[in-house]
Amino acid sequence: MMNGKDILSLSVRGIADAVQKRELSASDVLEAYIASVEATDGEVNAYITKTYDLAAAQARRADERIAAGELPALAGVPFAVKDNFAAEGVPMTCASEILRGFVPPYSAAAYERSVNAGGVLLGKTNLDEFAMGSSCEKSVYGPTRNPLDHTKSPGGSSGGSAAAVALPSAAWALASDTGGSARQPAAFCGVCAMKPTYGAVSRYGLTEFASSLDTVCPITRDVTDSAYVLEILAGRDRRDMTTLDLAGTKYTEGIDGGVRGLKIALVNGYEAFADAAVVRCVQRTAEILRKLGAEIVTVDVPWLGEAVEIYLTVSAAEASSNLARYDGIRYGNKEDGVHITNIMKNSRSGGFGDEVKRRILTGTYALTSVLTGDYYRRIKAAQAEVCRRIYDLFGKIDIMLMPTAGGTAFDLGSFNEDPTAMYGSDRFTVIGNLTGCPAISLPAGGDGKLPVGVMLMGDRLSEKMLYRAAFAAEAELKEFVKEETGNV
Ligand code: GLN
Repeated sequence: MMNGKDILSLSVRGIADAVQKRELSASDVLEAYIASVEATDGEVNAYITKTYDLAAAQARRADERIAAGELPALAGVPFAVKDNFAAEGVPMTCASEILRGFVPPYSAAAYERSVNAGGVLLGKTNLDEFAMGSSCEKSVYGPTRNPLDHTKSPGGSSGGSAAAVALPSAAWALASDTGGSARQPAAFCGVCAMKPTYGAVSRYGLTEFASSLDTVCPITRDVTDSAYVLEILAGRDRRDMTTLDLAGTKYTEGIDGGVRGLKIALVNGYEAFADAAVVRCVQRTAEILRKLGAEIVTVDVPWLGEAVEIYLTVSAAEASSNLARYDGIRYGNKEDGVHITNIMKNSRSGGFGDEVKRRILTGTYALTSVLTGDYYRRIKAAQAEVCRRIYDLFGKIDIMLMPTAGGTAFDLGSFNEDPTAMYGSDRFTVIGNLTGCPAISLPAGGDGKLPVGVMLMGDRLSEKMLYRAAFAAEAELKEFVKEETGNV
């Protein structure tokens, strides 16, 4: 009989396997995870809403299915969901005052697939309001703390999901990534995040931030779990017309195939935007991949910084339009007013935080009809040029290797004085969203107690190759991560 600690040490696959073989029941696993949430969440604040009753029912259902001879892929695996995905009957807040009290009558496709595969929902995790931010502090439910150092940010916006997986107070977690929101917190918390190709996973039921950039991502403890979960999440959904026909893709198959012959590129000059420890980890990863048979080259991408400007304008423009639906009438919190315009004005003024307002104002400005010729069309043309150059590049190389973020987790409150300075932390990640390309962040070492993440990005639909490379690197990087984060 396994004790709680043993159960928490199992991977997603390990849990599903043990439950399928009836070495463990889904209810045993749930008990161990609830104990972990209760022991850690008071301090870390990864969860906004806990769903233990629902979890108990889902765990019973998983056990019944096993008893009936089914072998669901996520049988009894307790997971967490970022609180911008809908789960029927469970409050969804997006960490915003404006959605206080909103209970969605429907479920997000990614959540539904996970539950249909036998998953057990522990709760909804904290984020920056409407997924806008990089620190998980801009939440009406207070900041999440980095589990490895409680004075630090867990990264954002999916900080709650990343912290929960790192603790672990969830075996894996659903997150969204519009400009880096799954990958950067994964890097800060020492876990793994795959941002798949745009359209690989249905966005149905994910609260829109910037619809053309939003992606659904698994955050997991390791690369194999990531591939395993993506097999369940990916595929066409008639409720999201941008989804691709990927059902049945076996991301785990051939994951140990190695990197021999792959051309992997470092970005010239990236060192100027990364701390010494981050540079050391990127170089170490390159060296490992080279020893394993990859060819390491360099590429010039001098406009990487400008990609952040493009991202900010495109995402704000889409956000300003997407967030118009929060008018105090259809959803959540409603403020009083003598006239409908006052109701909307009061609800929106009181319901949105400063960062969200900043994006709505910038986006509305960029889309203002007298200015669209100046801003929006030109920025979309610049985005098209970025795509052209990146797709060209992937005609010559297989993978770009970059830091996920320029540094390790920063102190909570670091950007209070100058909130827009935080936008720079998305330097390496936004390019994946602007081009729709997949990118995976994995732990590559540490600085003090804090983990460092590196990122592998490939052309659209190259997930299998990225998993292969990440898997090969991970095996060699593990020891360094343990040693340098003191996480033995
Ligand atoms: N940090 C970025 C932003 O603030 C990315 C957010 C995201 O990916 N959702 O916009």
